[in-house]
Amino acid sequence: MSTQRLNAISQSSQRKPSITVEEIRRSELFGSQVFNEDRMTQYLTRDALESVKNAIFTGSKINRKMADQIAESMKSWALSMGATHYTHWFQPLTGATAEKHDAFFDLLPNGRAIEKFGGSQLVQQEPDASSFPSGGIRNTFEARGYTAWDPTSPAFIYGATLCIPTVFVSYTGEALDNKVPLLRALHAVDEAATKVARYFDKTVNKVNATLGWEQEYFLIDKSLANSRPDLVLSGRTLVGQAAAKGQQLDDHYFGVIPLRAINYMKDLEVECTKLGIPVKTRHNEVAPNQFELAPVFEEANLAVDHNLLLMDVMEKVADKHDLKVLFHEKPFAGINGSGKHNNWSLATDTGVNLLSPGSTPMKNLQFLTFFVNTIKAVDSYEELLRASIASASNDHRLGANEAPPAIFSIFIGKQLSEVLDELEGVSQGKLSPEEKTELKLNVVGKIPEILLDNTDRNRTSPFAFTGNKFEMRGVGSKSNCAKPMTVLNTIVAKQLINFKIEVDALIAKKSLKKDEAIFNVLREYIKSSKRIRFDGDGYSESWWKEAAKRKLSNNKNTPEALQVLTSKHTLELFQEMQVMSETEVRARQEVELETYILQTQIEGRVFNELVNTHIIPAAIKYQNAVIENIKGIKEVYGAGFKKQAVAQLAILEDISGHLEATRKKSDAMTEARKKANAEPDVYKKAMAYCHDVRPYFDDIRYHCDKLEQLVEDQSWPLAKYRELLFIR
Ligand code: ADP
Ligand code: MG
Repeated sequence: MSTQRLNAISQSSQRKPSITVEEIRRSELFGSQVFNEDRMTQYLTRDALESVKNAIFTGSKINRKMADQIAESMKSWALSMGATHYTHWFQPLTGATAEKHDAFFDLLPNGRAIEKFGGSQLVQQEPDASSFPSGGIRNTFEARGYTAWDPTSPAFIYGATLCIPTVFVSYTGEALDNKVPLLRALHAVDEAATKVARYFDKTVNKVNATLGWEQEYFLIDKSLANSRPDLVLSGRTLVGQAAAKGQQLDDHYFGVIPLRAINYMKDLEVECTKLGIPVKTRHNEVAPNQFELAPVFEEANLAVDHNLLLMDVMEKVADKHDLKVLFHEKPFAGINGSGKHNNWSLATDTGVNLLSPGSTPMKNLQFLTFFVNTIKAVDSYEELLRASIASASNDHRLGANEAPPAIFSIFIGKQLSEVLDELEGVSQGKLSPEEKTELKLNVVGKIPEILLDNTDRNRTSPFAFTGNKFEMRGVGSKSNCAKPMTVLNTIVAKQLINFKIEVDALIAKKSLKKDEAIFNVLREYIKSSKRIRFDGDGYSESWWKEAAKRKLSNNKNTPEALQVLTSKHTLELFQEMQVMSETEVRARQEVELETYILQTQIEGRVFNELVNTHIIPAAIKYQNAVIENIKGIKEVYGAGFKKQAVAQLAILEDISGHLEATRKKSDAMTEARKKANAEPDVYKKAMAYCHDVRPYFDDIRYHCDKLEQLVEDQSWPLAKYRELLFIR
């Protein structure tokens, strides 16, 4: 057997169920490595604490004197915890996180060493920004980018390093990361939602967007994963015949978690708990070796940071357990891919979930207001939301059988639909006392009961209301939630601003009462956003046809989906909400297109390598063995040998056929890549990769998988699906 595959199999089969983790009470560990409010209270002067709290609550700046004090305290705490280095931890547009470690250590002029970390190091750092993608914002002569502390996300110690969550901006102030636009969007939705929430409760001073993500992933034995060049370089298997057993028995989902996996999870959870990531749920997912982890929801910016940190911790802990985590959205063909549902809501500083109904008619009207406005926002910007989850890897999943379609629609369930249908009948202008009573008691008043029994969930919907939150399901398992969260919060902010203007106008000009005005505006929104509501099967072909009639976008691939970023509608939105300037949006679009091109290009190259140096040689070797066999038969039987070698000759022909096709297609793909590479325009190049290069992948794969079925198992060089997915 090919040595690499053989070694991997033998190593993976000999693994002992890894390190057992001692069960420690989670509440004692929680946040022990975080410079959180408790630590700050302990380490900061009262003034410094006030200034951090103000910065968190109102976004106010922290002055230099305070920054020095905070840095000094942070350093004392970090040193006491054994940290030796600090880093500004940020989210460049590559999608991952980046860090540059500096030692606390510094030299005095007299040559003696001290531990140094002052306000200037806390507040600002200047990484060599020219190596991060910027979409042309930074010219090479002005390659400066700055990272600056984001006090809304607490510093933490990871390894022996104090990590300071930061934003990353250019010298001229443009966002070079995913965090800046998110923070701006969260600010916008806070302002807009607070004003609307005050219709219902004057004491509300702040509204936070909340996010609870659900991270899906695969766990594969490290040696097996590393034996596959495609998994190592592109994160997914480019070839591989489905195992005889897949997920058809439905025996993995919520089943008993395999021992190695559960040990990994326990270890992981302890690490997460120390880092203040509130992990809560773990279970098997649908596909073999697929799992899910979900936390308690948090304020969106913190939740995004925690998800990014989690992905990093997951990889490190996996390594310790001789496992490899796969975050790719579709690492294996023929079985489910992975996603990262984003559960989202809005919460007031008074502790109220605005998407949760309450005990009084006013609270229910408040629920309805935020509920309908979210629907209206999604209806107005469905294509932009789709763009926010577009990536080369997620293209394999969106629209595939187990994932939401590339068409955005909202599922709210039968009973809430009925409530909205009734509200469509609300009278124009003033409402009679009878109508008001009827509405409050029998329409809006019924909502809490309805939600108690909101069981008819539709798993095929990309955007579903699930009782007290919306759940965005198309987000890719690999992606940074900051992107969809930026869009969702921006569009809801914009919508709530419009809503407030319209309600105030009805109150002022038509002298309607507040609740009458609200009912009037909501009625019109319900009518005008009907097309986005769909409770049926999102996977069905009839829905695609229906969605086309409703003029909902259906962008099946990333280059096409990204076009909407620079439409007039989008540019105006981001500018008006002060989330991104036109330059920033254009830069982002360019970076995303380039990332798409690069990822597809890498896959193409890996494919060539697999075909030419693994698969074709294996097939030829086996072909030779068959030829030798046929020669022997001929020697024995002479002219009549063919009758005795029917099977061998057929096998030989099959192999030759698939060999030829594999080689031809892979050469044609190389040609297509060369042509695409010559294209100077980034959009056209991405389209060429999408339409001219990518389609060859399936073709080549088909023939390779056929060869895998023909060639003697012993001689096949690549770890097979049954090994990757079933050796535990
Ligand atoms: P399901 O798998 O049925 O969608 P889970 O329990 O796995 O449900 O996921 C629920 C997720 O929703 C959790 O991550 C949870 O933190 C999150 N969540 C619950 N309430 C809110 C809320 N108000 N805002 C944001 N996320 C929420
Ligand atoms: Mg979910």
